[in-house]
Amino acid sequence: MTKEEPEETKKENSQTYCQRKNVSCSACCGINNLDFDENRLREYLTKNTTEFININLLNDKEAVRYRMRKEKENQKLILKQEVYVCPFVGWIDETRKKTGCLLHSTGSPHKDIGRLKNPQNYSFYGHSICQSYDCPAKSKNLLSERIKINSSFLYSQIAPNYNLLSALRFLFKDNEKDIEDFIKKNSKKLSKNRLPVDSFEEIINIKNKTKEEIESLINSLLKKESYLDDEICL
Ligand code: SF4
Ligand code: SF4
Repeated sequence: MTKEEPEETKKENSQTYCQRKNVSCSACCGINNLDFDENRLREYLTKNTTEFININLLNDKEAVRYRMRKEKENQKLILKQEVYVCPFVGWIDETRKKTGCLLHSTGSPHKDIGRLKNPQNYSFYGHSICQSYDCPAKSKNLLSERIKINSSFLYSQIAPNYNLLSALRFLFKDNEKDIEDFIKKNSKKLSKNRLPVDSFEEIINIKNKTKEEIESLINSLLKKESYLDDEICL
């Protein structure tokens, strides 16, 4: 769920925490809550995008029918039933590297998007929630631009992951090079076994934990199972 920025800010800085220059995060829109490997997720996003650009957006009923049909399909594919997977997530760039909101008034590839006032109102959350949500990791800017990540699938698992980023910052004493190296080292594993991070996870208090406890916390947070309980129990 990504906020629109004022025009002037957009011109000065086209990057945001959710949408970097070459990668993006769609965790709070549910992208990690699908029981897919990366190839299948890629196909899913391509299908969403193709179907979406072919609907008549100016016809409310058609847009709502699209949403309801996709929500039904998603039901069978969702890992955590309590976390919503929005059917309006797709590819928002021509090279299909960046995921994002197909209803976003400036990022959407739909030819008629500019003709609607608040297109995100076609979604389950609606315009005001989609525009105002900031996950805790984003609020604290836990993953700085200096830490390079070159895949949106990986970025969507790390950037919204408050607990993992806080623990890494603590362990590596905020050294961004070390954090980047750690992420690189684990990227293959995270690409094969995607973490169902949604950004709504309970925040773990890491104050007063020993180095060993933090290391063990990080190991747990790199496992898919840790995210499937109601609360993360470590
Ligand atoms: S409409 Fe869906 S994809 Fe778009 S910001 Fe809202 S939740 Fe995310
Ligand atoms: S989870 Fe956080 S970083 Fe990711 S899109 Fe949502 S607000 Fe942005």
